[in-house]
Amino acid sequence: MTATDPPPESPRMPIRQLSETLIDQIAAGEVVERPASVVKELVENALDAGARRIEIATAGGGKSLIRITDDGCGIPEAELPLAVRRHCTSKMEGGLQGIETLGFRGEALPSIGSVARLSLRSRARGASGAHEILVHGGRQDGPRPAALSAGTVIEVRDLFHAVPARLKFLKSDRAESAAITEVVRRIAIAFPGVRFELSGEDRSPLVLPAVDETQAMERIGAIVGESFADNAFALDAGREGVFLAGHAGLPSFHRGTAQHQYVYVNGRPVRDRLILSAIRGAYADVMPRDRHPVCVLFLQVDPRDVDVNVHPAKADVRFRDPGLVRGLVVGAIRAELARLSLRGSTEGADGLLVRFRAGGAGEPAAPAPAHAPRPSFAFSERPAAPYDPARSPSRPLDGRPADFGAFQPSARAERFEETAPAPIRAEFPLGAARAQIGKAFIVAETEDSLVLIDQHAAHERLVYEALKEAIHAKPLPTQMLLIPEVVDLTEAEVERLVAEDEVLKRFGLHIERFGPGAVMVRETPAILGEVDAPALVREIADELTETGSGAGLGGRVDHVAATMACHGSVRAGRRLQAPEMNALLRRMEQVPASATCNHGRPTFIELKLADIERLFGRR
Ligand code: ADP
Ligand code: MG
Repeated sequence: MTATDPPPESPRMPIRQLSETLIDQIAAGEVVERPASVVKELVENALDAGARRIEIATAGGGKSLIRITDDGCGIPEAELPLAVRRHCTSKMEGGLQGIETLGFRGEALPSIGSVARLSLRSRARGASGAHEILVHGGRQDGPRPAALSAGTVIEVRDLFHAVPARLKFLKSDRAESAAITEVVRRIAIAFPGVRFELSGEDRSPLVLPAVDETQAMERIGAIVGESFADNAFALDAGREGVFLAGHAGLPSFHRGTAQHQYVYVNGRPVRDRLILSAIRGAYADVMPRDRHPVCVLFLQVDPRDVDVNVHPAKADVRFRDPGLVRGLVVGAIRAELARLSLRGSTEGADGLLVRFRAGGAGEPAAPAPAHAPRPSFAFSERPAAPYDPARSPSRPLDGRPADFGAFQPSARAERFEETAPAPIRAEFPLGAARAQIGKAFIVAETEDSLVLIDQHAAHERLVYEALKEAIHAKPLPTQMLLIPEVVDLTEAEVERLVAEDEVLKRFGLHIERFGPGAVMVRETPAILGEVDAPALVREIADELTETGSGAGLGGRVDHVAATMACHGSVRAGRRLQAPEMNALLRRMEQVPASATCNHGRPTFIELKLADIERLFGRR
C-alpha cells in the first residue's frame, strides 16, 4: 500500500459504554497477572488491616484455590458490597500525595471477582457476627450471615476460568506455586512482627513465626539464608530526609542472579530499576560483571516525595529526586565496603569446616594412607633461585625498590627456618606469614586464627587499586623495553587504543601507531614486572571493543586496569619467600577493598582457632 491509496473500508461500530464486568476484567489484566499477584494483593490487604497472623493456602499452583486468613480489623457487614466494587477503598485519606498503606487503588477485589469465584467472609472488630459476600463473574451474592470468630477469610477459586486467554499463559502448577512463595517471602521480610504460614498440597509448607522488631535479622535469615547474617554488613545512612537501613552482603558472598536483592520503599517491596542499578554500581569494583550481591535494603522516604501510583501492580516507584536516592544507596554501600575492606567471607571457612568435620554434612575425609607423605611446606624446600627483592612480585607497587626492613637477602639460598619467624602483632589483622602451600597460598597466623591467602588474587587486587589511583595521582613509573614490540591489530582496534593513549600512559603503558593496523609498545608499567606486552595490548584492545562506547571514561579505566592487573599479578605457582609474603599481607591491610580480588573472589579466608579446636573435638 502506498501513501496515496485510500484507507480500506472498515465497518464502524457506534461508541458505547463497556459493561462493569468488562471494565473490571480489563483492570484485572493489569492487577492480577498470575496467581502470585492475587496472593500479593490479598496479603497486602491483610497487612493494611493490621493483621498479626496471615495464613495462605493454595492448591493447583493457586489456579484452583487461594485462601488467605487473617486476624486483622475485618470489614463491617454494610461495607462488604463496597469492598468488592471498583474504586471503593477505605485507604488513601490524604489523596495520592502521601500514601502510607500498601493498597490504595480500590481495584484488587473487584478485579479478582471478575476473573474468578471470590468469597469474602469477615467479622469486623466489635461486631456481633460475621458476614459473607460472594462474587462470581462480576455478579455479587450476599452479604449473608456466616461463621467466623474474627478477622477475614478470602477465597479465590478457579482463577481465570472466565478468561481462558490468560489461563493459557500461566506456567506449570509448580512454577506458579513457586512464584507465590517468592511473593510471600519478599513481603514477609518487611513485616517481621507478623506470622506468615504458607501451605497447600502443591508445596512444602513455609512457616515464619513472628519475631520482635529488634530481631528482624532472624526473619531475614529465615528467608535469605542463615549464612547471610555472617556475611553481611549493616547499613544505616540518611541524606536530606531519605533514610537507608538494612543489610548488604560482602562482595565475596555473591550469587548468579539479582533475585537475592530485596528492596523496600516505605515497607513496600519494589523492583525498582534505579535502586537495582545503584546496587550494581556500588559493587561494580568488587564483583565480576556476571555476579550479583545479596542485600536487603529499606528506604524510608517522605510519602510525598515518592510516587507509587506508576503501575497497577505497584512494584515500580518514582522518586522526586532520583539522584539523591541513587547517591545515598551507592555512597552508603561503598563507604561500608571500604571500611570493612579487610573482612573476608566466612563462607569458605564454613565450607572448610564442614569438609573437615568427621560425620559432617560434607564429603567424609578419606582415611590417610599409613605411609602418607608429610605435607611439603615451602619452607622445607630450597628456593629455586636466590631471592631478589627488586624483582619480587610483592615489591611495593609504586615501582621503587623494595624495603623489607631487617630482611637482607643473603647470597646463598636460604631456608625459611633460618630467619627469625615474623612476630604476631595485633595491628596486623592478616597475621604473620608462616608458610606457602601449593605455590599458590600463603598460610598466616594471627593471635586467634589461621589465615589462608590466595596470593594471585590478593596481588591482583593490589595492582588494580594502584592502577586506578594512578588516574588521579601521578602517572605510574614505566619500564623501557629494550626492543620495542610491534603488535598487529585491526585498524579499528588501533583507533580505539590510540584514542585512549592518555589513559594508558598514566598507567605506564606507552604505545604509538605503527603504520596501518599495528601499534608499537615502547614502555610497560613497572608494577607489572616482566609482562607479555603484545598479549597485554591485545587484551586491552578486546576490552575496549567490548566496553568501548557506552562505558564512559570511568568504566573504561576500570576495565583496562582490571585487564592489566590480571597480567601483572603473582600467578599461582610462584614460590614466595617469607618477607615477600609478609610484605604482601601488610600491603593488603592498607588497601581498601582487598578482601576480594577484582573478580569478587575472596583473597583470603580466616579460620578461627576456636573453630580449629572444634574440628578436633576440643570444644
Ligand atoms: P485497596 O486495598 O486498594 O483499598 P482492595 O480492592 O484491595 O482495594 O480492597 C478494598 C477494600 O476492602 C479495602 O480498602 C479494605 O477496606 C477492605 N479490605 C480488603 N481486604 C481486607 C482485609 N483482609 N481485612 C480488612 N479489610 C479488607
Ligand atoms: Mg488492596
